[in-house]
Amino acid sequence: MIIAIDGPAGSGKSTVAKLVARRMGFRYLDTGAMYRALAFHALANGVSTSDEDAVVRLATQSEVTFAHEPGDPLPSRVFIAAEDVTAAIRTPSVDDAVSAVARLPRVRAAMLEQQRHLGRDSDIVVEGRDIGTVVFPNAEVKVFLTATPDERARRRVAQQAQSGALVDIADVRESIERRDSADSTREIAPLVAADDAHQLDTTGLSIDEVVERIAQFAEGERA
Ligand code: C5P
Repeated sequence: MIIAIDGPAGSGKSTVAKLVARRMGFRYLDTGAMYRALAFHALANGVSTSDEDAVVRLATQSEVTFAHEPGDPLPSRVFIAAEDVTAAIRTPSVDDAVSAVARLPRVRAAMLEQQRHLGRDSDIVVEGRDIGTVVFPNAEVKVFLTATPDERARRRVAQQAQSGALVDIADVRESIERRDSADSTREIAPLVAADDAHQLDTTGLSIDEVVERIAQFAEGERA
């Protein structure tokens, strides 16, 4: 079974997708991390994020891979070209660069192939922007998570505070809105709910409530 979880930045996708995967004993794939790793790699190599030929070259030469901590069934470390970029892909400079890379059609084609390959043959929770619409349009369960912009900014600030970063909520909100606007208006695979997705506004819900609802959708499919 494939559970596709899409939605805008800060909607709670990662937290929820990982918990659903743990609860159901499924694998987990964070497709945003793949675009982030590529954006980081472009910045680190002085490649312009709008130079499609150069970014595609990087994407085809530098594989994105995931690794597990000992004893953890879910992958938590991200690598590109064998470099551990787990922390480096969560910085504001990558936040600001990633949508430019993700809008390039040939970059998306390369990512699509890798994502379908990584998601083949087993039960998996896949999170991103176009999972239910493009990557796995036949996913048995599709969820589109939303939350108000204020709530999403608050969550991002809380998340970054945990890793010791002090950020301004107005800056975070502006960065989220810029990224959502770029992701929603691009020509290829824009951020949009699939017609058959369950739309869940998580603003007033606890994480456990969201996980519970998604698990119920999945159990309903299995029954
Ligand atoms: O999910 P996350 O916020 O880490 O995603 C980072 C960026 O990667 C998004 O803003 C979007 O530009 C891109 N992305 C995408 N398609 C996906 C997943 C992420 O375009 N399936």
